[in-house]
Amino acid sequence: MASVPADATAPYGDAVEARFPAPSMVYNTPGLQASRTTFTTQDEIHTWLRDQAAALSRSVGIKAAVLSIGASQQGQPLEALVLTRGTGTDPAALQATGRPTVLLIGQQHGDEPAGSEALLVIARELAQGLLQPLLERINVVIVPRANPDGADRGDPLTAGGQDLNRDHLLLDTPEAQALARLTRDYRPTVVLDAHEYTVLGPYLQKFNAVEKFDALLQYSTTVNLPEFLTKADEEWYRRPLLAALKGQGLSSEWYHTTSADMADRKISMGGPEPVTIRNVEGLKNSVSLAVETRGAGIGRLHIQRRVHTHVTAITSVLGSTAQRASELGQLRPYLEKEVSAQACKGQSIVEAANTPAQYDLQMLDPVTGGDKTVTVDWESALALRTLKSRVRPCGYWLSESSKTAIERLRLHGIQVFRVLEQSALLGDIYRETSRAGSAQQAMQGSLAGSQPLIKTEVTLVRGVIDAPAGSYYVPLNQPLANLAIAALEPDTQSSFFANHLINELASAARVMSEPSLKTEELP
Ligand SMILES: [Zn+2]
Repeated sequence: MASVPADATAPYGDAVEARFPAPSMVYNTPGLQASRTTFTTQDEIHTWLRDQAAALSRSVGIKAAVLSIGASQQGQPLEALVLTRGTGTDPAALQATGRPTVLLIGQQHGDEPAGSEALLVIARELAQGLLQPLLERINVVIVPRANPDGADRGDPLTAGGQDLNRDHLLLDTPEAQALARLTRDYRPTVVLDAHEYTVLGPYLQKFNAVEKFDALLQYSTTVNLPEFLTKADEEWYRRPLLAALKGQGLSSEWYHTTSADMADRKISMGGPEPVTIRNVEGLKNSVSLAVETRGAGIGRLHIQRRVHTHVTAITSVLGSTAQRASELGQLRPYLEKEVSAQACKGQSIVEAANTPAQYDLQMLDPVTGGDKTVTVDWESALALRTLKSRVRPCGYWLSESSKTAIERLRLHGIQVFRVLEQSALLGDIYRETSRAGSAQQAMQGSLAGSQPLIKTEVTLVRGVIDAPAGSYYVPLNQPLANLAIAALEPDTQSSFFANHLINELASAARVMSEPSLKTEELP
């Protein structure tokens, strides 16, 4: 574990520090012991989860299990704790309860420890504490540390140098694959992704100010989301969450970030790219929230307050889910039907961007610690600008050589069919009109990352697609249609084609009328 010396120079003076008093309660996970200079180790997390499961085995009616969901790039176990009043802890048993499942994820970025420590607190409270009654209305799955290799080094990235939270569409890393498999199998209704955000970083140089808010929040803000999902994110989750934080004297703001480029004074909310857990889970029709506490880059400073902020936020999300359990039970099938029914109809957005605005952002004066309002250029994610849209196809045809792409689609839970007899389909093929060399690398550090991202512009050419036996069909009359669009329209920076999971433009085509195909569904 990366350790922070107890006598490390404080990142700012007493006046700023005094704005963030410790909460009245003291959290005591292994890594939060007063004598510690390191956060909870992977072994300690393992023992802690086992202990919670063991405590529950003595409780009547509650089932718990620690699942091994994969291994990190350095071979460390990736683990999840499942808690339910169902008859077992497998996906079918949780589905059979008819209760919504909440998935809680911590520490995708290794240098953001508060979420992980808070999830250990939440696990204990659900297993043996005050939150246990919630299990009468909800199931909970907890992944306290999604990136243990990064946590060991106090590094945001994985051992291979990837940003795990940019890999949830491509699924290049074993860590992202483990989370995709878990969500495919357990189908959470709600996903909360716990992070910490940079407090000083470029803000001090750009604005002579320090970040103020205990929590930054954002739900899914990507294209093609059903309106009702965003309404649920906002009304059923974000508003109660803000009230819960306020009730604890904790402040919050929309999630935002700024680039390391000192000349660029823009501040952006999280973008619409369908690559983060926050956005990808929205495309899987789940309520999805990222919560970031005020902690990256300040070591152990204010750690009890940071953990308290996460515990408060997570408790609110669990409570909202319990309170809305029956509405959520209706929401999922409604969304799935709505998304499926759009196949072959209307427009789908292929690419969008945040909308420029001005915003008065509250920050802190680094010397006096007083409030300081900075008017900034603000890229809002609450209204996206459409850059590119297309008629929604009935489905996509993929060539037999697209095996990796097919594997990744299946890992997401997207339904794929194999063509059994050669057939001709009416559709649009992609014809390249320009290609720009991009300095930006494909998914940083990934296998594909050794090659530049392919930035292509295309036009659509209507024609007959020859679909030989052994090629594939991905229909859009399925619940994950919007995720398939994000992966398969080639001319975006997140797409499978741009990132070399599909090798040629000719390997995929848009099928524009309901095909009559002899197919078999891939298992
Ligand atoms: Zn993060």
